[in-house]
Amino acid sequence: MVLAERFAAHGLKCTILEKRPHIGGNAWDCADRNGVLYHPYGPHYFRTNSRAVREYLSRFTDWQHVDYRIKSWTHGRYWSFPVNLETFEQLIAKPATEYEFKAWLAAKRVPIEHPQNSEEVILSQTGHEFYEMFFRGYTMKHWHRHPRELDPSVTARIPIRTTRDDHYLREEFQALPSLGYNHLFEQMLASSPNIEVKLGVDFQDARNHFEARHTIYTGPVDAYFDFRHGRLPWRSLRFEMESFTPDRLVERESIAGKKHHWQPAMQVNYPNDHDYTRIVEIKHATQQPSDCTNIVREYSQDDAPGREPYYPIPAPDARAMYEKYKLLAAVEPGVSFVGRLATYHYYNMDQVTAMALHEFDRLTAPGGPFAGLASHR
Ligand SMILES: Cc1cc2nc3c(=O)[nH]c(=O)nc-3n(C[C@H](O)[C@H](O)[C@H](O)COP(=O)(O)OP(=O)(O)OC[C@H]3O[C@@H](n4cnc5c(N)ncnc54)[C@H](O)[C@@H]3O)c2cc1C
Repeated sequence: MVLAERFAAHGLKCTILEKRPHIGGNAWDCADRNGVLYHPYGPHYFRTNSRAVREYLSRFTDWQHVDYRIKSWTHGRYWSFPVNLETFEQLIAKPATEYEFKAWLAAKRVPIEHPQNSEEVILSQTGHEFYEMFFRGYTMKHWHRHPRELDPSVTARIPIRTTRDDHYLREEFQALPSLGYNHLFEQMLASSPNIEVKLGVDFQDARNHFEARHTIYTGPVDAYFDFRHGRLPWRSLRFEMESFTPDRLVERESIAGKKHHWQPAMQVNYPNDHDYTRIVEIKHATQQPSDCTNIVREYSQDDAPGREPYYPIPAPDARAMYEKYKLLAAVEPGVSFVGRLATYHYYNMDQVTAMALHEFDRLTAPGGPFAGLASHR
């Protein structure tokens, strides 16, 4: 969509083919039957350190700043999470100082100088206790692989802090589009009459019926090449949304600690209980004024025909297969492979936006197929 907006703004006709019945991919949001916004494809917490990305998207939306906070549920209670001094105090059931927590961690840490996998990352930082409480079960449920089989990056993303700082994310700009993502996407599309959107169209069916000077491909790279080197493995997800009217929230309010809410934080992880990995109540973040709310339970599942691919598997075997497709993509004439599915890499929204802006610059640079079109800046 970013590339369509950029090229359309410079006078070129762009057609977006989307197999789903809506625009915006996984970041799309909508309202439930009570008018409460939710994220049907899992929570999308926008954050970025990139001024260029923020300025570009701010052309299409205002922002509502959000302090993203989450909790973890295990051993029959909610825990402060990511691990911080308060989590430690909950564990030892008494107040503690940062110094005491650091000393405890130093005694518990497994001495691993260069962690080689996701298990070693956590063991080397916190030892076995927190690893078992918060990480092992969640990682197994989410990836269906043991943390030992996964790259260090999977658990390295989650901070361990000895202060009381329980912020989930670190980026300097953390906000949601004031009127939601769908509104932001609609503003992008409305910015030029040169963009046409065709919903419910699968690129694989349509590819031989379309003439295009250039194709921006955002689908799975293995499908583009007819699975020539085999099927890339993905984790898929299933989402279950439940809406609540005020009468159904009365008994939840003491748990949520807030009127008209269902749970005590925007996101609660379930590393060891239930089949779902997390429950998200995005109203904590949107702060939508409503006496209703909704939650989305998220279940991780294997990839299978008919299921959406969500997460590329961050493991050496999967990466090796992707490398073969990457070579094919690099020499495919007239096609840019952009985004998570096409590059077999998990990216956040700001990273995908930056990737698209960069691709626009590349295509319009001297010597590129669209040399002469102005830069996006
Ligand atoms: C559960 C989950 C949570 C996330 N949380 C966050 C978050 O908190 N913060 C954040 O910044 N990012 C988050 N992301 C990442 C975010 O979704 C992506 O960065 C963003 O959607 C942009 O990705 P994309 O354009 O590469 O892919 P998508 O948004 O998936 O877009 C690709 C589009 O191509 C379509 N498509 C695929 N194949 C075909 C085909 N053959 N024909 C036609 N259309 C096709 C798909 O239907 C889809 O609409 C999350 C992702 C997931 C899955």
